[in-house]
Amino acid sequence: MPEVFADLVGQDEAVVELRRAAAAAAAVLRAGASALVPAGPASGDTVAADDAATGGVDPSTGMTHAWIFTGPPGSGRSVAARAFAAALQCVHGTGCGECPGCHTTMGGTHADVRMVVPEGLSIGVGEMRALVLRAASTPSGGRWQVVVIEDADRLTEAAGNALLKAIEEPPPRTVFLLCAPSTHPDDISVTIRSRCRVVPLRQPPAPAVAEVLVRRDGIAPDVAQWAAAAAQGHVGRARRLARDPEARKRREAVLAVPRRLTGVGAAFDAASALIEAAEAEAEASVTEADTTERAALETALGAGGTGRGAAGAMRGAAGQLKELEKRQKSRATRAQRDALDRALVDLAGFYRDALTMALRAPVAPVHTDTAALAGAGAQKWDAEGSLRRLEAVLACRAAIEANVKPRIAVEAMMLALWKG
Ligand SMILES: [Zn+2]
Repeated sequence: MPEVFADLVGQDEAVVELRRAAAAAAAVLRAGASALVPAGPASGDTVAADDAATGGVDPSTGMTHAWIFTGPPGSGRSVAARAFAAALQCVHGTGCGECPGCHTTMGGTHADVRMVVPEGLSIGVGEMRALVLRAASTPSGGRWQVVVIEDADRLTEAAGNALLKAIEEPPPRTVFLLCAPSTHPDDISVTIRSRCRVVPLRQPPAPAVAEVLVRRDGIAPDVAQWAAAAAQGHVGRARRLARDPEARKRREAVLAVPRRLTGVGAAFDAASALIEAAEAEAEASVTEADTTERAALETALGAGGTGRGAAGAMRGAAGQLKELEKRQKSRATRAQRDALDRALVDLAGFYRDALTMALRAPVAPVHTDTAALAGAGAQKWDAEGSLRRLEAVLACRAAIEANVKPRIAVEAMMLALWKG
């Protein structure tokens, strides 16, 4: 296995900072110190005391308890967090990729590393409290307790408060790694933000994405280059496009939308088709998990029973099934939104291509396979018309993000794309 930061594509500055922090963390352990330098407002009062304990590690480059990884989707926020977690558990303190600490963390089986991946639209307070409680225990491997929270922007307010408490008074060997799109107050509360060190990731350039697809996934170079450009810097999406014919088919259907918009009726048809495709994609991705979960729960609860207390047990079972259904519904909604958003990003790429062509900007197209079509659009619409259409797609994304019903937002977008 190569060293743990190898898959963090195009993020050289972040990697330098994380390596430095991991080395500082290892130094803390070697010194047998129990405290870290907290980030944020508290650091002013405690730096002097901690300095002695950490052997004078510079707080700006040293280790701290709470981190936020920010960046656009696909930039590798959770990849960075996992790699950093591995470097913290690495027996050499470097993230060598070879030792048991690195191996188990990267494989998702390290006893002291917990990855929280919300399945629904939000992370609830119950889940967060349980997590914080476990995170306070002594690390079984003698190094750190690491909690990675993917999509920290999906914390409920109550869950955020539970987390804030833990970050404000961190257990001595616990490290929180949060991932969020940005440090905007909509994504992460100002108080949590003020206690964390921020690691900004950028959208990785297409050549860097293509390189990792070739090196790690064994994908042919020409396919990798095409997929990296089409995925607009989203590493996971690029890999799916390169490997999954279904994903390629769905993308082609989305990119066929602009030439199908020949009238009002066609615009509504295109809206329905886009929504239904997102629903179908989402259903395919969650149905199997739903069925497995339900079967497992029913087995765990047992079927029937006539003894004393059976009625009470049945009531409890009904409650648990209801809870499971609620969670599954939330996950399905999320999967639908994600699928629709991917489609909108593809569509935005098409109009962006038309715009850059109308402006004769010397940049490569996002979608090489529809470049001719985008060129025709550029001639017909000019820069202004292309820009208005691009803005219509982006407005649709923003509306759905703001909880406008997807069908309504998509219909409005299709009409705007048709009218220009
Ligand atoms: Zn290692």
